[in-house]
Amino acid sequence: PARCYSSEPSLQATEENGFKGHSMLAPFTAGWQSTDLHPLVIERSEGSYVYDINGKKYIDALAGLWCTALGGNETRLVKAATEQLNKLPFYHSFWNRTTKPSLDLANEILSMFTAREMGKVFFTNSGSEANDSQVKLVWYYNNALGRPNKKKFIARSKSYHGSTMIAASLSGLPALHQKFDLPAPFVLHTDCPHYWRFRLPDETEEDFSTRLANNLENLILKEGPETIAAFIAEPVMGAGGVILPPKTYFEKIQSILKKYDIILIADEVITAFGRLGTMFGCDMYDIKPDLVSIAKALSSAYMPIGAIIVSPEITDVIYSQSNKLGSFAHGFTYSGHPVSCAVAIETLKIYNDFSERNIIQHVNEIAPRFQEGIKAFSGSPIVGEIRGLGLILGTEFVDNKSPNDPFPAEWGVGSIFGAECEKRGMLIRVAGDNIMLSPPLIMTPSEVEEIISKFGDALKATEEQIAELKFK
Ligand code: PMP
Repeated sequence: PARCYSSEPSLQATEENGFKGHSMLAPFTAGWQSTDLHPLVIERSEGSYVYDINGKKYIDALAGLWCTALGGNETRLVKAATEQLNKLPFYHSFWNRTTKPSLDLANEILSMFTAREMGKVFFTNSGSEANDSQVKLVWYYNNALGRPNKKKFIARSKSYHGSTMIAASLSGLPALHQKFDLPAPFVLHTDCPHYWRFRLPDETEEDFSTRLANNLENLILKEGPETIAAFIAEPVMGAGGVILPPKTYFEKIQSILKKYDIILIADEVITAFGRLGTMFGCDMYDIKPDLVSIAKALSSAYMPIGAIIVSPEITDVIYSQSNKLGSFAHGFTYSGHPVSCAVAIETLKIYNDFSERNIIQHVNEIAPRFQEGIKAFSGSPIVGEIRGLGLILGTEFVDNKSPNDPFPAEWGVGSIFGAECEKRGMLIRVAGDNIMLSPPLIMTPSEVEEIISKFGDALKATEEQIAELKFK
């Protein structure tokens, strides 16, 4: 197996001092990593930095898990949480009872999403729950319309939509399926829109998009359009490797979906709230979805919260049929948790404050240097492609600069790079030989320079280790 990239011994947990593993069944961690290696234990944060329990400082170039958009120690969010905790730590939103923060947050989300008019907001605790809720909502909607066979979902290979049963099924990553008996049979996967990796010789980006749209249409026709309920897509694919849609992709895909009356779900769990330099990914790519999933930056990760935004057409069907349907029997104890909502309201106030902080403008100011600074390393002999937009970026390591020449998996090239970053005080995301950056939106220009410089040094060290592995 590829090596864990958390490799520097820390004081509290080494084999020498008797470390025998910890008690957590740790998410996305191999058993041997938990028992043979110490975990990296993070203790506190400050702006774009986190510190481990030994006091070592790291620039958090992934913003936690693509989520701490406003970084650490945002006093306004701490205050919003504290005030709400003191006033009303909890009340639910079942049976037409609710709280003011939930109602206010739903209004605010609707007013901010302007790619098209939306109708309602449903609250969840996470992105996975948001995507699971999307599937149930779409099925409920098609049942209400008397279309019981229109239930299949199409997602894309290499997509990430979460790790609960349905969200993992929608995801197009083999590790989420193998050993878990997934995907569920109603989920189909279509092409990953990665031009560099999957284009044909001499194919233009536009032609590549046309081919993918044709493949989607052929899949729909083969399955029967009357059986296909929805298509789900991240505007920019995140965990699958930061894959940007090729030119004209969403335009062509949307026209096919419209033709066959298929719902479009935009999974904006990573892209919403400024990551790409626009408030939503839908604004960047002119996507007009029927449903949207959000989470992560919605509260800048200060409290867990996710949501789905529902079109007026879908809500109208559900509301107009409610005598027949009865209650919408779906929801979580913590749907619209007042503390999470209070924090999210304050977070959105910060994003919407165009005079004082202007986060979106700040992203647009620092993103060009961030992108250009890292892309300057594209010439490295171990780099296949560096791609990104705004404050999200992926790098793919391959041999001979060719998408068809992967390094041997056991070399763990991505992991070597991740370990070299960690050594230098920078935390990133590693997935095989793809590595990803998604730093806090509040990064200063000097922090951008720090990331570029650490990236360059870690790359050089990785190149040297690859040269040695090749020599052996
Ligand atoms: N959708 C996307 C696009 C994501 O990136 C993620 C998380 N990385 C999820 C859904 C799942 O969110 P969560 O981990 O909050 O369940």
